[in-house]
Amino acid sequence: MSTSSPSPPGSDAPEQSAAVAALTRHFGFRAFLDGQERAVSAILEGSDTLIVMPTGGGKSLCYQLPAMVLEGITIVVSPLIALMKDQVDGLTAKGVPATFINSALDAREIEQRIERMRRGDYRLVYIAPERFKSARFVQALAPLSVALFAIDEAHCISQWGHDFRPDYLRLKPVLAQLGQPQVAALTATATPEVRDDILVQLGLGVDGRRAPQVLVSGFARGNLTLVVTHVHTAAEKLARISAAVAAVGSGIVYCATRKNVERVAQSLSHADVRCIAYHGGMTDEQRNEAQDAFMRGEIPLAVATNALGMGVDRADVRCVIHHDIPGSVEAYYQEAGRAGRDGEPAWCELLYNYADVRTQEFFVAGANPGREDIAQVYAILQRLCAAGPIEMPITQIAELLGKTRNTMTVGGALHLLEKAGAIQREYAQGSRTHTTHLVTPIQPLDALAIDFARLEAKRSRDDEKLHRMIAYAEHKGCRHGFILTYFGDLAAPTHCATCDYCLAHRQAAARLPTADEQLAVRKALSCIARLDGCYGRGRIAQVLVGSRAKEVLDAGLDQLTTYALLADEGSEYVWELLEALIAAGCIAVSTGKYPTLSLTPLGHEVMHARSAVALTLPAAPAARPARSRDRRVASHAAAPAEDADSAALLQALRAWRRDEAAARGVPAYHIYTDSTLHELARHQPQTNLALLNIRGIGPAKARQFGAATLEIVRNKFFRGEII
Ligand code: ADP
Ligand code: ZN
Repeated sequence: MSTSSPSPPGSDAPEQSAAVAALTRHFGFRAFLDGQERAVSAILEGSDTLIVMPTGGGKSLCYQLPAMVLEGITIVVSPLIALMKDQVDGLTAKGVPATFINSALDAREIEQRIERMRRGDYRLVYIAPERFKSARFVQALAPLSVALFAIDEAHCISQWGHDFRPDYLRLKPVLAQLGQPQVAALTATATPEVRDDILVQLGLGVDGRRAPQVLVSGFARGNLTLVVTHVHTAAEKLARISAAVAAVGSGIVYCATRKNVERVAQSLSHADVRCIAYHGGMTDEQRNEAQDAFMRGEIPLAVATNALGMGVDRADVRCVIHHDIPGSVEAYYQEAGRAGRDGEPAWCELLYNYADVRTQEFFVAGANPGREDIAQVYAILQRLCAAGPIEMPITQIAELLGKTRNTMTVGGALHLLEKAGAIQREYAQGSRTHTTHLVTPIQPLDALAIDFARLEAKRSRDDEKLHRMIAYAEHKGCRHGFILTYFGDLAAPTHCATCDYCLAHRQAAARLPTADEQLAVRKALSCIARLDGCYGRGRIAQVLVGSRAKEVLDAGLDQLTTYALLADEGSEYVWELLEALIAAGCIAVSTGKYPTLSLTPLGHEVMHARSAVALTLPAAPAARPARSRDRRVASHAAAPAEDADSAALLQALRAWRRDEAAARGVPAYHIYTDSTLHELARHQPQTNLALLNIRGIGPAKARQFGAATLEIVRNKFFRGEII
């Protein structure tokens, strides 16, 4: 939306404006859309990139703009042959020399276009993936200087994606044949396994190729309030749904099964909530009628399985409630994302009952028959069909199997056996069940074309996806942050204003520390810097409050200059302060059995007062009763040193004020009053913001004297004793 989106290190201002100038000159756009500038700079820097943006995010421009700047030709692999001509016509109209090559062209025409590529007539050439089947074609391209090899709809290379195309698997060897040109892969599919698979299948980051940059953007939906409610009964779920619909007007309730759809729709109707039901078990006619009534806004609520999807282009859906936990974070976010398409606030609530996970486990098992399941189904078919073809519903076969009673599993196994040519199935006339024949000669299971390893891999991926979804439901932190991190958005927030977790913690909302608090923050950080990565939270808190516990003294920790620095504040305060610093990303906690604390780069910046961060701080220590005047006596280090420091600072400030007043020919108190000088000496502000917290310093004074004041304070501050 703006040109000021963060750019990667290395890209400097002139380059940015050159990019914007090129954007305007070639494409007539005034500014980059979110994520485009980052992608364009990464490509211009020479990185291989995987660019993930939602549909409509403006992916094409990410390679079209570099194509105008880079030396050489940009090849664009795109499976959307129908759209190729339009794309090229659009570019040509803008004066961008471009063409396409696909099987709609005859051999002579292809020959001619390759010849013109050689002559440098085009900047962009769209090529259909199946063209690379021809070795001659690839050879003809090899001598060309390819600046960028862009792969549109890159998820087509992944068997885990929703649109696998074997032609895409050819691209890796093609890259080698073309001399490993720079690659930009683009997709709207952000699931972690597809993302990783794209990199692997293209061989990015290996064989001497630099690590690719994976750039995910545009998935943030801050207008959605994400909520998870733990519920125990069906009645509680209904109550939540009724309340939400009453509050916001329109919405969708997603259920995991058809049975739940019917049950929930019926209960809601009884409660006078008007709704349509929608699932795959209804006839096309029933479904269309229901969907239309919902889309037209006649009925405010749809209760549906995930079959309700594609057609939902109603922009004013105000809530999406999940009656049952779905099987993956991507399914959840896709469905929840149907709320608030108009950008206005919308409510997305997951009604979470751990018992519902069973349904999803059942689906995973059903969708992924294991070797054992297939073997059992095959064995029983061999018995049943010994005397000829059988006509038997799947449920009955499942019953015969006894233990394997999951009908979906049996259905899946039958499907695989059929695909492998071991059986044939036909619908008997006028019957809803299949007739199953065994194909003879009967082959042993291992001779069948069934890729068991792949089935197993898919099973564990599906399990993992479900576990991640459960992790979302049980997450204790920002939900938007969780989802964006899952999708690989490295700029994911740790805090938002629209999820239940962040809203619940709003009372203790993050704010900039006062001068006193900032001092405490820096003391805590300097203690961690001293003990970098050696101790956990407990020991560090002990050191900060000046504990005389045996383990502290035995380790000689009481000898540290940072010992007892926060003795006055007390251990409760120190614990909360450490929590806040961890949450704000100033302190890193190691994983493992004994997590230790260390400073992050941000923590270093804050410790040196080079930056200030907003923190969810405990009640200010100043506001607490002086709880430990006695402790102050026991703890020796910080306080007296501080006093000495403030005295020195006060002196320096007075001297400066005298000179400044003389230079301006005004009385000293026109610069700062005495009480302001005392406050400055006591609070030792390190930033402009902290300066504004000092009584007697407003914006005007800060503008006039801020820089000079801060310089004096910084010179006096700490004098290397702590940091
Ligand atoms: P995607 O491939 O990600 O679905 P497109 O590349 O087709 O998206 O772009 C979506 C729309 O956004 C197109 O109409 C395109 O012209 C427009 N667009 C792309 N970049 C910009 C921009 N910087 N400013 C304005 N419109 C843009
Ligand atoms: Zn949040």
